[in-house]
Amino acid sequence: MSIQDPNDWKDKLSPEQFAVCWQKGTEPPFSGEYVSNKQAGRYVCVCCNSELFISDTKFDSGTGWPSFWEAASPNAVRTNVDHSHGMTRTEVCCNQCGSHLGHVFDDGPDPTGKRFCINSLSLDFIPD
Ligand code: FE
Repeated sequence: MSIQDPNDWKDKLSPEQFAVCWQKGTEPPFSGEYVSNKQAGRYVCVCCNSELFISDTKFDSGTGWPSFWEAASPNAVRTNVDHSHGMTRTEVCCNQCGSHLGHVFDDGPDPTGKRFCINSLSLDFIPD
C-alpha cells in the first residue's frame, strides 16, 4: 500500500485520529491525552511512528494543546501556509507521511520563539 494515500490510514486510525491527521481537523482544547503530560520521552507520529518532538522542548502554553518550542530534528516536520478559516497560519505536518499535526506560531518561549501547537490525536508518546 502507498504510505501517501490518506485513505490507506482509515483502517489504522480511530475516526477522531483520521479527522485530525488526514482531514486537518483540530481536537477540542484540553481534550487531548498529552496536554498536561510532563513525562520524559518522545512523541512520534501516530500514523508512521516517525519521531516528531521530544519532551525536553514541551512547555505549558495554556492553550489546551500540547506545545513544543522545537521539532525533534529539522527534517522531522514540514510546514505549509494555511489560509483556512479566514486566517493565515503555518500548518505543521509529519515530514515522513504528510499527516497533519497542527500549526506553528511565532509567540513561543526561548530559545526559538516558536510554538508548535500540536494535536494529541496526531501523536503517540513513548516514555524514556
Ligand atoms: Fe507520519
